[in-house]
Amino acid sequence: MLDALLEGLKGLLDPAAILHALKGGLIQLLDVKMLAIMALAMIFIERVLPRSRPEQPIIREKFWLDATFLYFNRILIWWGMLALVALSGVLVSVLVPLSVHGAVRAQPLWLQAIEATLVAELLYYSLHRLIHVVPFLWRFHAVHHSIQAMDWLAAYRVHPLEQVLTKGLPLAALVGFGFSPGAVAVYGAVFFWVSVFNHCNIRVPLGPIRWIIATPQFHHWHHANDPVAYNTNYAGILPIFDVIFRTAMLPGDRMPDAYGISDPVPSSYLGALRWPFWNGAPK
Ligand SMILES: [Zn+2]
Ligand SMILES: [Zn+2]
Repeated sequence: MLDALLEGLKGLLDPAAILHALKGGLIQLLDVKMLAIMALAMIFIERVLPRSRPEQPIIREKFWLDATFLYFNRILIWWGMLALVALSGVLVSVLVPLSVHGAVRAQPLWLQAIEATLVAELLYYSLHRLIHVVPFLWRFHAVHHSIQAMDWLAAYRVHPLEQVLTKGLPLAALVGFGFSPGAVAVYGAVFFWVSVFNHCNIRVPLGPIRWIIATPQFHHWHHANDPVAYNTNYAGILPIFDVIFRTAMLPGDRMPDAYGISDPVPSSYLGALRWPFWNGAPK
């Protein structure tokens, strides 16, 4: 077991691989095509569907602050996730027998994608709940919950370290269990689009479907500045985990009246990044 671990760690220290990952991050920073496409797609969705807050303009308060988060966080999250997925991927791979990897990979892609989503969602739910209840971790997550205007861009006001933890660990577990890259990519893509869509300033009553897949209403309540809604709706894609663990909150078709928290998260990018280390206070 130790040999396999050392072999994996040696691979992680390969200078060519490290350089490739660093370059990948920098290329992302320069490439704004994907950002522009996503922004246009989300603004289009917010214009054609009924809005939760019709009076809220596209360029709302703190729009440029959140655009700064969107632009610069990408590179930090990319590098952090790569390091975490590589490190924990090696660890889990060592702990999980090769026969399990073989059995997982032998399954059809669609079945792997469903299993990968269930495994990753359970982990995401647990980590998300953890960062709400552990005061030190909450400081990092409070940056995201400091949003007072919900829209697609609000999804990006996040502390990069929190993202590396809550999104990197589920991905690392999938890699460690041996899920094929295709299955991991399906989960990653669904999570990405659902989480951006769920912050959108839209109101789409979906009836019973809202219990099957997370909707804007589901995630807006997670951000509600309302004691009744605190510590609810942790799931990223599947509300079933909130139902099982009794943290679901979906009051009819109602949307929250206000969003945000009382923690004094600074209104600047660098200030918010520094804040959890020195000035954070638990929720
Ligand atoms: Zn949260
Ligand atoms: Zn959110």
